[in-house]
Order: sequence, then structure tokens, then C-alpha cells
Amino acid sequence: MDLDDARNGVGRTVIYSPFAEPDIDDETGVITSVSDRYAFVAYGGQQQAKATNPGDLRFADEPRSGAMTLCAAHSVRSGPRSPADLEEWKACPDCVKTPWEPADGS
Ligand SMILES: [Zn+2]
Repeated sequence: MDLDDARNGVGRTVIYSPFAEPDIDDETGVITSVSDRYAFVAYGGQQQAKATNPGDLRFADEPRSGAMTLCAAHSVRSGPRSPADLEEWKACPDCVKTPWEPADGS
């Protein structure tokens, strides 16, 4: 999502799922506020919200955006994701790819 999505989504449940860091487990949290650069998300019921790049968030009740939606064969896979998995998904004609733009780290 982008900052505007996050701003409109304060109070909604989101999933943190950084495409660029597939080894990180998804985390669920709630957007508590949005600055001019970050969404602040209270993860796991914690009081302290963490500044999060909105590009790494998606609403829990909406399809993943900015990454990819896995086909049935791939979405049933469990266990840790790896760079090799990403390569496999990218090569799969049935996984739906959404253009992904790297977060601007500057
Ligand atoms: Zn697939």
C-alpha cells in the first residue's frame, strides 16, 4: 500500500510482509497513525507502534499487492520462504505477479 492507503486505513488490521526480505515471517498489526513517510503499526497487540514502510504492508482483508499472489500449487507450501522460492514463484505462469517497486531507502 502507499501512504495514502495507510492514512485511510488507520485502525485497520494489516499484514507486514516485506517482499524484499522473504525470510521474515509475516506479522499482523493495526495501523495507529501515519507520518509523512511511515505507517506506525502496533504489532501483536503491543502498545508501542513501530514505524513501517507502507510498501511492506497490506490490509489483512485484501489481496496482497505490490508482491505476488501465489497459485494454488504454491500457496499450499509451508515452511520458511527462501530466495529460491521467490525465483520459483516468479517463473511460475500461474502465480499472479504485481509490479513491485523497491522501497526508496533514501
Ligand atoms: Zn505458482
